[in-house]
Amino acid sequence: MKINPINFNNPDVAIVISFSGGKDSSAMLAFIMENYPQAKKYVVMADTGFEHDDAVEWSKEIVEGFGLTLNVVRPIWKDGTVKTFQGMVRNRGMFPSSSCRQCTSDLKRDPIYKWIRNNVSEPIIINAMGLRADESTGRAKKDPFILNNRLSTKLINGSRKRTAYDWLPIHTWTTDEVISYLGNEGIELHPAYSYLSRFSCRLCILMRTKDIVAVYHNDRPAFDMISDLEQEIGFTMRNGESLVQLITGELKKDEVSA
Ligand code: SF4
Repeated sequence: MKINPINFNNPDVAIVISFSGGKDSSAMLAFIMENYPQAKKYVVMADTGFEHDDAVEWSKEIVEGFGLTLNVVRPIWKDGTVKTFQGMVRNRGMFPSSSCRQCTSDLKRDPIYKWIRNNVSEPIIINAMGLRADESTGRAKKDPFILNNRLSTKLINGSRKRTAYDWLPIHTWTTDEVISYLGNEGIELHPAYSYLSRFSCRLCILMRTKDIVAVYHNDRPAFDMISDLEQEIGFTMRNGESLVQLITGELKKDEVSA
């Protein structure tokens, strides 16, 4: 594992913790609090407008339990209104996909970066994220500590006004390690984990069929919202199959095997 060269206790350094209320960001927050108690920290949550109803309150409670403040950011359209996942899809006339995750960049990354630029004055920023290698091959390939060019300012005469690094403190952790760490820390999992493996948008473009079926059974308003959106824009979230077709097929399979 690459060792990060930064002294996190340096007053010029701030750790900005991306928080969602899910298990990974909760474990990451607890880990950072335990290992870097003296470091300056900020916690930011990006609200995509399609979060679980209590996601912000849930997150606030965990973050405030550590004596920190949760900063919630929301993307804004040019006319000043709040941009949501549904609004973004409607505006584009299509859903994002795994190869073009406009939702992540527009609804999460960019609002968080904007918040950092406007609110964090420390010249060295450690952008901490709870991504883990065992979540996907793409995430496994990520460098756990790397210069963030987008968030850093230009290099002029060998120095920058702001230097930012991406840091993945729990990159090597397994799911079991995350769950066990949270248990030791006394941090509960959100009830949505009873039917979902990840806590993110209520119905995510990256969900596997099994998870979409679980949303259908446990969060019908979210399922209907996306299904209605498919009808409205004439574009399906999954390639070549609407959510209604998907669920009809899955329910039929259940009938046959019953
Ligand atoms: S959780 Fe899924 S749908 Fe929501 S922003 Fe992330 S990738 Fe897009």
